[in-house]
Amino acid sequence: MRNARTLLFGVTLFVAVAPAVAHAQARKVYISVDMEGISGVNGDNQTSAAGAEYGRARKLMAEDANAAIRGAFDGGATEVVVNDSHGSQRNLLPEDLDPRVRLISHSFKRHGMMEGLDSTYDAVIFVGYHAKAGSPRGVFAHTGSGVLRDLQINGLSVGEGGMNALFARWYGVPVVMVTGDDVAVEEQRATVPNVRGVVVKRAINSRAVELRPLAETRREIQEAAKSAVASARKTPPERLARYTVRMEMRDPTIPEVAAAFREIRLVNPSTVEFSRESMPDAYRLIRVLYRFINTD
Ligand SMILES: [Zn+2]
Repeated sequence: MRNARTLLFGVTLFVAVAPAVAHAQARKVYISVDMEGISGVNGDNQTSAAGAEYGRARKLMAEDANAAIRGAFDGGATEVVVNDSHGSQRNLLPEDLDPRVRLISHSFKRHGMMEGLDSTYDAVIFVGYHAKAGSPRGVFAHTGSGVLRDLQINGLSVGEGGMNALFARWYGVPVVMVTGDDVAVEEQRATVPNVRGVVVKRAINSRAVELRPLAETRREIQEAAKSAVASARKTPPERLARYTVRMEMRDPTIPEVAAAFREIRLVNPSTVEFSRESMPDAYRLIRVLYRFINTD
């Protein structure tokens, strides 16, 4: 009798609390998907549309994205938006994706890999990320495009994951998870110390990798996304007074063009510097400089 009463109390309590909990967990999740750090991807004939194995790679990309999407919904997401964040940003095919998501596609964007993120989101997940420019061991290590040797924001050298984390922080949306090779996951901790990481492959050097079994990495991505989303807590927006950006290029052609804009200072023939009062504005100009100036 005593046991039955305890049980009954437990059930009553659960019923009373459940609607409130369900409401509190309504979650909007943003997933930015790059390609170099996807499970099974390890060749440069996979990462651009002209490559012989591109068709395979975009399917692999969709599979890792789908694992994260399933996990996000399992973890309480009520809405998931996926942003295609690689190259042309038209790699993911909507027919290959979990039918519950919306897809942001095409690279003509102000905010590239973070297009559309704002303070209405509750969590950000990075899938398929890679090491920053100059990392000696990361597979396909680069930042933004091939033109950058280093990118610094307020004195901190960052890759795409670091830059994107600062963007998310501007809106107070936590980056809760990253997937990629071991170097990419480790580098992410410089800007998001307690980020949940799924290492899908081990970089042997800048080209060779040890690939983990696909079924295993996808299962791990799903499980990590589930717990990352379930435990995500929004933070107050972090808005610094000034974002000073220094971009060191591989050659002086882009700085030569960029110096035409009065607010862009030439630090040396291959390095430019500028300041912006918001991270989204800084991000937009970084993107213009590495992507939309053609000096061919
Ligand atoms: Zn990238």
